[in-house]
Amino acid sequence: MHDPDCLFCKIAQGKIPSRKVHEDEDFFAFHDIRPAAPIHFLIVPKRHIPSMAQLTAEHAELMGRMVVLAPQLAQQEGCNPYPDGGFRTVVNTGTEGGQEVHHLHMHVMGGPRPWARG
Ligand code: 5GP
Ligand code: ZN
Repeated sequence: MHDPDCLFCKIAQGKIPSRKVHEDEDFFAFHDIRPAAPIHFLIVPKRHIPSMAQLTAEHAELMGRMVVLAPQLAQQEGCNPYPDGGFRTVVNTGTEGGQEVHHLHMHVMGGPRPWARG
């Protein structure tokens, strides 16, 4: 369920402080410490899943709910409405995929351009 050495498990459990965006039974969302856009937060499942590479059919419902949560939280955090506003979602997987923290997470980035990175 949790990996005692995992940074995002510790954040999701409140053992390491973060700027919380949302919490429910299955998900925790918090602002990225190094934002690449005016609005940049991460959504993580509370249970430890290292990356998308470990997903099986058993995770389909959980991942579906994570995707549905993204636009709701983007609106809550002030992303401008679609189509002139919107947001970017990114899930990095593995070293060559740019993943630095090995607990599955979805980046949600938005706000007026230009952005700091990307
Ligand atoms: P990845 O490259 O694994 O897709 O993204 C990891 C993200 O986690 C990075 O954007 C990085 O800024 C963010 N991050 C790393 N350590 C912390 C932390 O301690 N707190 C918060 N809020 N974000 C972090
Ligand atoms: Zn974890």
